[in-house]
Amino acid sequence: MKTNLLGMSLDAMEKFFVSLGEKPYRARQVFQWIHQKGISNFNEMSNLSKDLKCILEEKTEIKPPEIVYEKDSKDGTRKWVLSVGEGDLVEMVLIPEGKRATLCVSSQVGCAVDCSFCATGKQGFSRNLSTAEIIGQVWVAENSFGTPRDHGSKNVTNIVMMGMGEPLLNFEPVTEAMNLMMHDKAYGLSKRKVTLSTSGLVPMIDKLSEVTDAALTISLHAPNDKLRDDLVPLNKKYPIKKLLDAVTRYVEKCGDQRKTTMEYILINKVNDSLDNAKELAEILRDIPSKINLIPFNPFPGTEYKRPSNMRVETFKKFLQKQGYITTVRTTRGEDIMAACGQLVGKVNDKTRRKERSQNKRKRISTKLIG
Ligand code: SAH
Ligand code: SF4
Repeated sequence: MKTNLLGMSLDAMEKFFVSLGEKPYRARQVFQWIHQKGISNFNEMSNLSKDLKCILEEKTEIKPPEIVYEKDSKDGTRKWVLSVGEGDLVEMVLIPEGKRATLCVSSQVGCAVDCSFCATGKQGFSRNLSTAEIIGQVWVAENSFGTPRDHGSKNVTNIVMMGMGEPLLNFEPVTEAMNLMMHDKAYGLSKRKVTLSTSGLVPMIDKLSEVTDAALTISLHAPNDKLRDDLVPLNKKYPIKKLLDAVTRYVEKCGDQRKTTMEYILINKVNDSLDNAKELAEILRDIPSKINLIPFNPFPGTEYKRPSNMRVETFKKFLQKQGYITTVRTTRGEDIMAACGQLVGKVNDKTRRKERSQNKRKRISTKLIG
């Protein structure tokens, strides 16, 4: 099997080139061809010798995930469905916003955490993505608008690990891919422009602080454990107090004045009352945080509903009065099912969760009808 160079760190590539009898600077050249110029064909790497090109051709490859489908939304959002083999498909979304373009990247095929409001969770879980499959998404997005790229005119200015999957349950590949996103000879994004979003794996947040100081976002969604246990099942293992303590430790370790973003999905009459807002303001009092409210995005089969704009406004205004920077995430790409929580891809579900929840729905509807 050929070695895929796409997911290799510069260090690993230098060692690999030395093992081929080549000088380390050759690895740097190839690294830049791949990530900065978007080249996957060795013949186009004009500063390499013919012999080296032959060796690389024989032993290695630069293999991104394959594009199965791509579609533009009327608001400019673009969604890709990417094949990672054996029928597994993941989704990725690019959201342009003025000078910014944020790429929402997947970390797993499906997700085992199974939050009750998330379409990805309902798909079940197939497998973790490799570093090459994660950074390969950035590679695909960067090269979708013409290649080779003009250096300096980037398509992707920000990356959020908010596609399919729980990134902290796929720790090494995700953090290695994030290192490539931030590497100045690869995609060169600053630590504030690469964000990892997690449903709250406490020990992994501590581990993350040892290897990166990238931006952290917490999928909080509830102001008390009773409610959060229902929405994010992981909360039973890592309750809110432990989670917020881990956030404090992360921010302290990063040593700057940053605020952590707390994401809060607003689900009609589930977690969107004024009492919930009051409780939220209380628990975040000592945590330097911004709050990002996400009105629930519906998907087939869910019973949850998006609250009215009025309920969303009331919730937001209350938090703002309490001194919190609070924003409401505008829904993008809904017409192509590219909005938050709507990414499903195709998951060879090893957990058989989808099947079980469909059977359960069938039983409930039979009960209701008959
Ligand atoms: N697993 C990680 C990262 C991916 S989830 C996490 O949970 O943080 C992607 C984001 O979409 C999270 O912020 C999640 O809370 C949000 N999301 C999931 N389902 C949603 C839905 N139905 N409507 C709106 N946002 C949703
Ligand atoms: Fe997984 Fe995140 Fe969806 Fe929860 S919200 S099921 S952790 S992808």
